[in-house]
Amino acid sequence: MRTIAHWINGAPVEGSGGTAPVYNPATGEQTAEVPLADVAQVDWAVAAAKTAFPVWSATPLSARAEMLFRFRELLDGNRKELAAVVSSEHGKVLSDAMGEVARGIENVEFACGIPNLLKGDFSEQAASGVDVYSLRQPLGVVAGITPFNFPAMVPLWMLANAIACGNTFVHKPSEKDPSASLMIADLVKRAGVPDGVLNVVHGDAVAVNRILEHPDIAAVSFVGSTPVARHVYETGTRNHKRVQALGGAKNHMVVLPDADIGMAADAAVSAGFGSAGQRCMAISVVVAVGAVADDLVAAIAERVPNVRVGPGDDPEAEMGPLVTRELRDRSADVVNGAAAEGATVVVDGRDRTPEGDGFFIGCSVVDHVQPGMRLYDEEIFGPVLSIVRVDTYDDALRLVNDNPYGNGVAIFTRDGGAARRFQSDVQVGMVGVNVPIPVPVSYYSFGGWKASLFGDTHMYGPEGIHFYTRGKVVTSRWPDPATSEVDLGFPQHR
Ligand code: NAD
Repeated sequence: MRTIAHWINGAPVEGSGGTAPVYNPATGEQTAEVPLADVAQVDWAVAAAKTAFPVWSATPLSARAEMLFRFRELLDGNRKELAAVVSSEHGKVLSDAMGEVARGIENVEFACGIPNLLKGDFSEQAASGVDVYSLRQPLGVVAGITPFNFPAMVPLWMLANAIACGNTFVHKPSEKDPSASLMIADLVKRAGVPDGVLNVVHGDAVAVNRILEHPDIAAVSFVGSTPVARHVYETGTRNHKRVQALGGAKNHMVVLPDADIGMAADAAVSAGFGSAGQRCMAISVVVAVGAVADDLVAAIAERVPNVRVGPGDDPEAEMGPLVTRELRDRSADVVNGAAAEGATVVVDGRDRTPEGDGFFIGCSVVDHVQPGMRLYDEEIFGPVLSIVRVDTYDDALRLVNDNPYGNGVAIFTRDGGAARRFQSDVQVGMVGVNVPIPVPVSYYSFGGWKASLFGDTHMYGPEGIHFYTRGKVVTSRWPDPATSEVDLGFPQHR
């Protein structure tokens, strides 16, 4: 059995305590064991990061940028290998994993602009002989705790900007698909980044809780489910850390009666079932407004059988398995209970599950779903698309705004005025207009509202730079050299 290592101070380090199994979700077989760090191992990684901080934070911006460019080139040259590692432990199909790596690389490209991003402000002659200017300085050791569903992209959301800003980083990846983090750490080292700047400790709640309490960690970035995000935010801030904690989601796609039904159905299928619904920006609920419902449901149902379900390394497959047996079973359970709750199962994914022990389930579409049903109230995180029928735009808006989550939302319409009104009215952090998965490009920032974000800073982009630095304002006075006791040759003209 392959044993996965931690990565501390630029080298792999064996675990010493408990372990957890890592599976190939397409076969259901265990492929590796990942160590679960105890307190001492987390402390070791933090100590390495703390030792590396003084030299790294003093490394010139041009040198940091050069290393980031090299890291970007190495990632680019290893796209396929990294995507294959992601696919083998997460289950997503290779084309999707390639997309994940591409979005991760965009964050490194953004971070390559760090000399420009860290420029401060300067006010000359704020008072007589007085200038005022601002600096942004790194925080110290910062930590990132990441979820299973984007094992390459989400770490790159965090660590590219964190180290570009001059911080050192301790990464705690998901124990379900930990290998991508090690490949990234190796590429960072090969890019010339000094040992100790990026460290990886695997683990579960024990490691996370040590990170949240560790006195030498200044800030924590978290992405994962809402209950854990809330815990991370509350515990981290109680321990005087800066925390950004992104939580779960229940993303709606509102389809107005004037929408292009074919376009909306294509979008619902790709955004609902891509990555087997295990994206934080996946469409989970289609809200059909007024007369559009029957035609829209028919168009979606017609497309679903075309989604080819299979192992991630099958080039023909469009949707892979779920990451664990438990998540697969949860999707099956909600479909199982849907009819009893009064919903109508239009396409039953349980009938379209590939043979074998992999954690597969086919795509399901359930119509006439309503708040109060498990299918609506829970984050399912699987290939189950719910349809809620409402009469009016206002009903749709109320539904979305009453939902406790506020990560992503989309509206499909041909009416620019309606879309403009929606983008203003809706209480959600990321809005798509005829775009089902509106993940912001790397030079904007990513974050939801309500139970999808704890803290006030979104991730990556300008807000990422803000999160990983603290501001300082200098007010300086230099007397006019003409008044110097030593004659410096300046005329007294001021
Ligand atoms: P998770 O919350 O189970 O795990 C996330 C991280 O927290 C992992 O590193 C895990 O080891 C750790 N963890 C788990 N339980 C813990 C506990 N009790 N105490 C301390 N740490 C704990 O999330 P997941 O299942 O890996 O990922 C899926 C979830 O992440 C979904 O809810 C999804 O919506 C969310 N997500 C959100 C975003 C976003 O941008 N808002 C992005 C990706 C994923």
